[in-house]
Amino acid sequence: MPGFEIFGDEERKEVNDVLDSGVLFRYGFDQARNDHWKARTFEKELAEKIGVRYCHLCSSGTAALSVALAACGVGVGDEVIVPPFTFVATIEAVMSAGAVPVFADIDETLCLDPESLQKALTPRTKAVLVVHMCGAMAEIDRIKAFCEQKGLTLMEDACQALGGAFHGKFLGTFGKVGCFSFDPVKTITCGEGGCMVTNDPKLYEIADAYADHGHDHVGSDRGAEGHTIVGTNFRISELNAAVGLAQLRKLNRILKIQRAHKKEIKAALGRIPGLEFRKIPDEKGDSATFLSFLLPDGATAAKASDALAAAGVDGCFYWYHNNWHYIRQWDHILGLKSAAPLPLTLFETRPDYKKLNLAQSDSIMQRTISMLIKLSWTQDDIAQRIDKMTAVLSQ
Ligand SMILES: *Cc1c(COP(=O)(O)O)cnc(C)c1O
Repeated sequence: MPGFEIFGDEERKEVNDVLDSGVLFRYGFDQARNDHWKARTFEKELAEKIGVRYCHLCSSGTAALSVALAACGVGVGDEVIVPPFTFVATIEAVMSAGAVPVFADIDETLCLDPESLQKALTPRTKAVLVVHMCGAMAEIDRIKAFCEQKGLTLMEDACQALGGAFHGKFLGTFGKVGCFSFDPVKTITCGEGGCMVTNDPKLYEIADAYADHGHDHVGSDRGAEGHTIVGTNFRISELNAAVGLAQLRKLNRILKIQRAHKKEIKAALGRIPGLEFRKIPDEKGDSATFLSFLLPDGATAAKASDALAAAGVDGCFYWYHNNWHYIRQWDHILGLKSAAPLPLTLFETRPDYKKLNLAQSDSIMQRTISMLIKLSWTQDDIAQRIDKMTAVLSQ
């Protein structure tokens, strides 16, 4: 997730365009802006790049998820099936919509297990929100088939998987909506930013209005615009969009470097007995932001994680203990600790989050270590990393 590693003149030039015109707002000011439309241009280029009709750029990936839920009509009392391994934003967005997150298990893809969806299903299920974790894909074809069969809305949180694809089709374009994040540690960054993509003109129209107080953006007088729905403000500034635009134009290069680095390390680690890689349904489509591997049992993985750190192999994550991407560390979420009463507390049918049985996910996460792939590694860095990792993991 290395957008920040390759900042340079390109970003500076785009930002200066905005500073020179003084128009930091993404809408209007047609005369003053010297024809610089950074947010709009980003949307057009991203949509073209991943082969989708519409893109709405907004203030964060979390905001994009909220916009997507609104566009899909997910609201109070609706249940949304989610994985227990994700960044908490996925769950926060569902809760803020007034909807109820229902956890299903992950499998060795580190994403939702298509087999576990059935047991999470109730008459109140409205959507499945699949998360393509750590740069690669869920069994998206099987999950999509399940949603079609059950009449559920498929939503994709592809915040960590920009540029990833499944059999040639980009992640984020399988569902009714897909979401991406451009926060400072994602594949490309706006500083802060995110977007929602869709092929459905109606959903796009809702997203575009919802993220800007319901404005319909028709005509050229903002004060006289119509307001179709109640919305909020998830707008991105032109400054952030400008940074993202320069970064987006580097995406192919970023993916190429990541994939090459990962391939080299993976080939070397593949020779270690007892080490298995995360299952990737389409290896070619891996965006290669992370290399994730599973060790034979939890104790071995926990020990290996400490030993890797001690050997100076940085950028490794043992999610089960450290870091807060796995449900075990979400006391505030599971305990519904909120600043004000959450809508989902009105629904007695909600799952008892203190008594979840996610044994399959636990057993996978206990065995999993993920390593960040960096762009800035030299051949020497990679060779040393391979030596150190092989020494630690062969024990
Ligand atoms: C980063 C991330 C988000 C949220 O993105 P922000 O831009 O930081 O709000 C949501 N889901 C996943 C899986 C993420 O990794």
